[in-house]
Amino acid sequence: MAEEPAPIEQLPPYRLEGARSARSSCKGCRKKIDKGVLRLGVLIEGPFGSGYLWFHLKCAAKRRIEDVEAAYVERAWDEGVEVPELESLRKIAAENAEEKKTRKLAPYVEVAPSGRSKCKHCSETIEQGAPRVVLLRAVEFGNQVRNGPIAVHPACVAAALEAPDSATEAPGLVAALRENSTDIDPKVLERAISELGSL
Ligand SMILES: [Zn+2]
Ligand SMILES: [Zn+2]
Repeated sequence: MAEEPAPIEQLPPYRLEGARSARSSCKGCRKKIDKGVLRLGVLIEGPFGSGYLWFHLKCAAKRRIEDVEAAYVERAWDEGVEVPELESLRKIAAENAEEKKTRKLAPYVEVAPSGRSKCKHCSETIEQGAPRVVLLRAVEFGNQVRNGPIAVHPACVAAALEAPDSATEAPGLVAALRENSTDIDPKVLERAISELGSL
């Protein structure tokens, strides 16, 4: 089952196919691509010739939807190969972009804009003007797990990180809070950090 290189002029820019062996690995997630699983090849021209970079189709959708779109325009698959609707791949791309935004923002410290929020750990109200720490928690949507933000009292952070569905980790948390908490008085931020206790 050799994946023999074809002469350059015969290689199309994209190739969408069921993996012919289990020997390629995905350039997106770095995991093995199992035999038969749909993979997208993106042709690259290197100094030693041309070859495909392979991606699980879903990983390609997350990282390079433009290439996926181009492959669909060219119908870069053989007759009889069943490919998912392009729309479902666009959705994966959009969800991934959205999740990245959340991941980048949290964790951070902010000042509670109203007195209406409750701490997700102790369920007590977070007073208006008081600092609250926004952490990430894994939330299930159907059969997908995504990270959603939760707000807790600074003093509740250590316990909240222990929750089984916590998606924020203690190592690096303080550094991340300092980096991400941009629109807060630095003194308020440091006071909130001092209330975290030992993580
Ligand atoms: Zn992958
Ligand atoms: Zn609390």
